[in-house]
Amino acid sequence: MSAGPVIAIVIPCYNEQDALPVSIPKMLEILDVMVTDNIVAPESYILCCNDGSKDSTWQTITDLHAQDPRVKGISLAHNRGHQKVLLAGLMTVRNNCDAAVSIDADLQDDPKAIIEMVKRFRQGDEIVYGVRSSRATDTWFKRTSAHAFYSLQKKMGVETVFDHADYRLMSNNALNLLAEYGEANLFLRGIVPHIGLKTGIVTYERAERVAGESKYPLSKMLSFSIDGITSFSAKPMRIIFTIGMILLFLDIAVAIWVLIAYFRGITIHGWASLMLSVWFLGSLILIGLGIIGEYIGKIYIEVKHRPRYAIAEKIW
Ligand code: UDP
Ligand code: MG
Repeated sequence: MSAGPVIAIVIPCYNEQDALPVSIPKMLEILDVMVTDNIVAPESYILCCNDGSKDSTWQTITDLHAQDPRVKGISLAHNRGHQKVLLAGLMTVRNNCDAAVSIDADLQDDPKAIIEMVKRFRQGDEIVYGVRSSRATDTWFKRTSAHAFYSLQKKMGVETVFDHADYRLMSNNALNLLAEYGEANLFLRGIVPHIGLKTGIVTYERAERVAGESKYPLSKMLSFSIDGITSFSAKPMRIIFTIGMILLFLDIAVAIWVLIAYFRGITIHGWASLMLSVWFLGSLILIGLGIIGEYIGKIYIEVKHRPRYAIAEKIW
């Protein structure tokens, strides 16, 4: 690695015509610094991934390429969302680089952290997560909802990195392992830790967007959060089963209460039998749903065709 590794910076872009002319030169600057310092190879480049933008993002990318051929681009036929366009970009560069760094187009993630990430990579880390040291520039709502979401995910047994979005470096090896994940419901923040390998963390300050508005309205954020849990965990279904079992035990107390009321003669005709069957059948139905859910969970995991193991190193 004496000439330095070839690094690809992969940027998902949706309606970023205003941000790209500011952010791309900044990232080229970072590449220049790293090339000068002999940290990366001069062939390192940027891949802008247009996610079916409605504005002139693709034209902007074409212009930037004309100015500097290190700026490359791909364009999706439709808007497929942040996660999918990012995967498209990573899969495009995976055989043309030693490591790829994914970063948003809006400079909210400090691009200087790339230098630190590459240093970690050169020291042997295969995945380096960018982690926000503070969320001061996020709105109160975004901050609180994000933290509630991380905690909920953790409780549901999903392994993710706290305060890490999709700003990360992945080695060529890690990218090849990522390619083995065939699932359609992409939640990269869960998949990448699932890959394993040697990981490192680089912290940075999160800034304001350089231009334009957030492309993540509340509705997209919510569906992303639900994806994040349901793509990784069958726990919600287990909760149904547990509730059913708890109710079944409660049935004993209910039965005692109903029978006392019945023998004291303070019930109307038919109430006792109705109460008992409603409670008993209710818990049986929940238990039944939980059991079915357990099988559906297994089927769900099977159809994803996730790799069953990942070999990190090999001596032959
Ligand atoms: N993005 C995308 N497709 C989408 C939505 C967003 O490629 O459908 C990109 C967007 O251009 C940006 C990144 O994903 O580079 C993160 O989006 P944004 O900055 O709007 O999200 P926020 O930082 O507000 O969570
Ligand atoms: Mg942003």
